[in-house]
Amino acid sequence: MVVTMEKIVSLCKRRGFIFPGSEIYGGLANTWDYGPYGIELQNNIKKIWWKNFVQDRQDMVGIDAGIFMNPKVWEASGHIQSFSDPLMDCKKCNERVRGDKLIEQWSLEAGQGRLPKHWAGEKTPSEDILEYVMNEKIVCPKCGELAWTKPRRFNLMFQTHQGVIEDEQSLVYLRPETAQGIFVNFKNVLQSSRKKIPFGIGQIGKAFRNEITPGNFIFRTREFEQMEIEYFVKLNDWKSLYDGWRQQMEYFYTDILHFHAEKMRWRQHSPEERAHYSDETWDVEYHFPFGWGELWGISYRTDFDLKNHSKLSGETLDYLDPETNERFVPHCIEPTFGVGRTVLAALLDSYDEDQAPSEKDGMESDARTVLRLHSSLAPVKVAILPLVKKLSDRARNIFCDLQKDMMVEFDESASIGKRYRRQDEIGTPFCVTIDFTTLEDATVTVRDRDSMKQERVNESMLRSFFSEKFRL
Ligand code: ATP
Repeated sequence: MVVTMEKIVSLCKRRGFIFPGSEIYGGLANTWDYGPYGIELQNNIKKIWWKNFVQDRQDMVGIDAGIFMNPKVWEASGHIQSFSDPLMDCKKCNERVRGDKLIEQWSLEAGQGRLPKHWAGEKTPSEDILEYVMNEKIVCPKCGELAWTKPRRFNLMFQTHQGVIEDEQSLVYLRPETAQGIFVNFKNVLQSSRKKIPFGIGQIGKAFRNEITPGNFIFRTREFEQMEIEYFVKLNDWKSLYDGWRQQMEYFYTDILHFHAEKMRWRQHSPEERAHYSDETWDVEYHFPFGWGELWGISYRTDFDLKNHSKLSGETLDYLDPETNERFVPHCIEPTFGVGRTVLAALLDSYDEDQAPSEKDGMESDARTVLRLHSSLAPVKVAILPLVKKLSDRARNIFCDLQKDMMVEFDESASIGKRYRRQDEIGTPFCVTIDFTTLEDATVTVRDRDSMKQERVNESMLRSFFSEKFRL
């Protein structure tokens, strides 16, 4: 079975995970809205992330900074000067592409090893990109002509104006990363939390980038959400702590999210490819249907950010070591995770098709689509299904009882087989069926999504049964 993006996009629309944005107006390119199940999946990912990286650790605290920040922040961070992509236009059909992505796509289609030497992605000088494209005759994917403009640097930050007067003074940016909200609050958090180095600050929030080529569903969008950590360390400790964070990221995808390990890999950035602030960067890549792509990343940002903010703001952003009495500007390790890309990976990783017994004839079987999401990610944990409407009152009592602990769904419409299929498609781990035997002995049938095995459980034991299953 091959999982395609088409299958995922169609399931998301059909079952209410993710809809095209502003659809009734014909949409708005590459915008997506999360529906009832999508938001549950997304919230579960964020909750699990927060629990794992903030709540369960003594060396972490959280914040939630604003999207709008003083424009000087983006000067200090280097985003105004160097947060740009090489944009090229086809002179024949006006198709607009990212020069680096054009070469990467061509190289992917042409087989491994055809990237220019010392390839640095979007950081490659414009002249080099153009020269390579012309030498290799990489034509426009839309019209097939070889007529590219020289790449122009295009800043990815969205601009808007604060207040009623639109002038230079009122110019603000929509933040392109959440990280800077952490750096500018470093002193406030340090003073109020009295944390000792090494310690970190976590944040979940929206970021905006005016991407030249958004696409692949929610993989690359212009508005997206990040879960970021800035972990402050002593200069000499950075390498060992950095390696420790890489292990924790790995643990997060194997043991917490339960993604297939063979679909994940690490990729180190070459020195040329690294962002302006970084001395070492690794990406955690996932094997998407369109190829390997960055899911998360981890950068060693040195003391670049705190130093620059200190310089531009005039505030001292350093740390006094209580043991050595030494003052220094902390260095920083940044593990960063995209929410949307994690949602996409969770859907792809859990998507499966198999055969389920048919209702018509026990010997036949129906093809079913099933999301084998780990129960902690599943949007709905249990579905309550009365066999016939006559049993609905009894079933509703069970629903109300279980709802106190978890997301539960009540469904009394259509045949039981159709209702099972529906729950399989949204990844519900268990279905509880109330039938006529329930009236006699107060037991219900609990059906397991993956094995499709059924067992009878006493109605009064259901809450503890599921607490045990989900370790609530
Ligand atoms: P890419 O190389 O794919 O453009 P990036 O290296 O610019 O990504 P980072 O700046 O490291 O990405 O951002 C941290 C995380 O935010 C990424 O690992 C990814 O999960 C997510 N992310 C970045 N850009 C986007 C986007 N346009 N849409 C959705 N998620 C994104």
